[in-house]
Amino acid sequence: MLDTERCTGHGRCYSLAGDLFDSDDRGYSTVIHPDVPAGLEDQARTAVANCPERAILLEDA
Ligand code: SF4
Repeated sequence: MLDTERCTGHGRCYSLAGDLFDSDDRGYSTVIHPDVPAGLEDQARTAVANCPERAILLEDA
């Protein structure tokens, strides 16, 4: 889950996990895959760990 209220557009998520996140026209994050596809779990965890605003949360299915 992406908390758009917390996102301040650092861009770490879409730089480090570009298969899961993209940027909007202002540099804020957007989610490409709401449900993490198989094989991209490491990218998801990396994005969570590197978001300085703690705007990305991983939820168990
Ligand atoms: S790393 Fe966090 S604050 Fe930065 S763009 Fe991604 S979600 Fe937003």
